[in-house]
Amino acid sequence: MTDTGTSLFATALDQFNRGAEIIGLPDDLRSILSQPKNEIIVNFPVLMNNGTYRVFRGYRIQHSNLLGPYKGGVRFHPMVDLDEVKALASWMTWKSALCDIPFGGAKGGISFDPTALEADELERVVRRFTHALGTNIGPDHDIPAPDLGSNAQSMVWMMDTYANSTGATERQSVKRIVTGKTLETGGSPGREKATGQGVVFCLQHWADEVGFDLSGATVSIQGFGNVGSATGKILQVHGARLVAVADHAGAITDEDGIDAFELADWVREHGSVAGFPKAMWIDEEDFWSVPADLLVPAALENQITAANVGRIQARVVVEAANGPTTLEAEKILEQRGIEVLPDILVNAGGVVVSYFEWLQNRSAQRWDLEDVDFKLREILWKACDQVVDIRSELGIASRRDAAYGVALRRLQVVYQQRGIFP
Ligand code: NAD
Repeated sequence: MTDTGTSLFATALDQFNRGAEIIGLPDDLRSILSQPKNEIIVNFPVLMNNGTYRVFRGYRIQHSNLLGPYKGGVRFHPMVDLDEVKALASWMTWKSALCDIPFGGAKGGISFDPTALEADELERVVRRFTHALGTNIGPDHDIPAPDLGSNAQSMVWMMDTYANSTGATERQSVKRIVTGKTLETGGSPGREKATGQGVVFCLQHWADEVGFDLSGATVSIQGFGNVGSATGKILQVHGARLVAVADHAGAITDEDGIDAFELADWVREHGSVAGFPKAMWIDEEDFWSVPADLLVPAALENQITAANVGRIQARVVVEAANGPTTLEAEKILEQRGIEVLPDILVNAGGVVVSYFEWLQNRSAQRWDLEDVDFKLREILWKACDQVVDIRSELGIASRRDAAYGVALRRLQVVYQQRGIFP
């Protein structure tokens, strides 16, 4: 729930309806796209190390497969629920459509804290979840990937479980059942950093458009996991200075710059930014008022709210996380002239490189990192160009509305050509 009690799916629907409005999406397509196609809930028992069984609840929401197989991450977090996963699944549909890749949208998750389990317990949870999903997922049907709380190892367990549940003759061809795997098991070069790399490509495009010098920028990042740390490291390589970082344990600042590489090593070893010796510990709430040109939320949804938005001093909010800005906060940002680079564009690098991984697995190839980065940049800059174009075509200021406009037009054309069965 947001600061005014709006559910996350209601936020997603509000954004969708604004996009539908600006392109005049017909009512029948609006009702179809307003709901996921399938909502799958599985409850499954797992043996814990103390000898008892614990029942876990998992979700897989398949929003749309109009443009291709359902595609989207699996989230492991205590707050995972049906409403959240529905919102996240719909955002995947818009993201793939915006980037013009042949995937639909899905999302899954299990409601639990993965950090509270032993490694072998976690493995059993992931394998049992995969087994419970059964044929609801498939290499050309619905393809999971990592998200908050899950990682490459979780994907390898999912792939191995799925492969062992198929016949011997299919075992090699089902590797692409998940993306975001380790390199050794069929992952793609560049997938680990893909979302952060995509954030930076989108920022470069924006900087070019508005005449902003990224190499002299100051940056604050909330969340220093996969997406936050990759974004921080790549921006640092481009000359930007990381001045504040927050995560689940608290917040740190240093106006002279926090070394993103050292901090990433620290977080990997210690689990959070807490105790990092080369920065000052600050109150969590004060993170939002640290002056920085770029504010990058890269943790959970509903983080920028009516309560803290007034403290933000950034020039642009870069939505590396999904749904980090509440509807109320976005209006205030707009009134204050602070730009928002929307999640469905800015964090699409993950799903784009997942597509590359899927393609590589289909054809038993391994691409070079240079190829992956080059193709990723091409796809994202094309999407950025289209957002710029539709803004001027329709005379709209909001980059989020514009991004929805591009995505929904693409879906509309396909619906028009295919028709609605029967
Ligand atoms: P992650 O699990 O690797 O990292 C999550 C980070 O968020 C951690 O630093 C954690 O400490 C922090 N965090 C958790 N709870 C917090 C709280 N209450 N306050 C502040 N910080 C908190 O996850 P990730 O894969 O980096 O995903 C981050 C966001 O990016 C999510 O919204 C996810 O949906 C989105 N995203 C991820 C990918 C991907 O490829 N992994 C792709 C697109 C979007």
